[in-house]
Amino acid sequence: MSARSSGDSSGGLRQPQASPLRCNECGTDRHLSIRSIEALRPASETLVEVAYTCTTCGLFYAHPADVTQVAMILNRPGRTPGVLVFSGHYIHCGQPMEKAGAELRGLHAPVTTDHTTGDPLGVYLSTRVLRCACGFQMELPE
Ligand SMILES: [Zn+2]
Ligand SMILES: [Zn+2]
Repeated sequence: MSARSSGDSSGGLRQPQASPLRCNECGTDRHLSIRSIEALRPASETLVEVAYTCTTCGLFYAHPADVTQVAMILNRPGRTPGVLVFSGHYIHCGQPMEKAGAELRGLHAPVTTDHTTGDPLGVYLSTRVLRCACGFQMELPE
């Protein structure tokens, strides 16, 4: 059981409020086009400053938003949770991840129980490693 005092709102951290990404004019998030994603100051693990327009109404919005919701709008399902992909930048904790290095990695055929098809060509997969300030990192095929 967590005791959370709800009445004490003064004097605490002033965390920016995440607003849902939505066009107030047409009331949906269906026509939104993300323009930019930036880290909040101070940086937040879950929020980013996002700017977007509604392509139907031509209205522009910019406000802090939840990373996961931005990811939904960006419509890139199946990626690593918490990672945004925007204009070729991978964003974690609301900050663009930095390239930590590249690796040339041999792809070993997984040792399966049977059905070992010969792999005559050594397949090498070049990957780049992106790292977030929080220590999270991920590998991407080039
Ligand atoms: Zn609209
Ligand atoms: Zn991170």
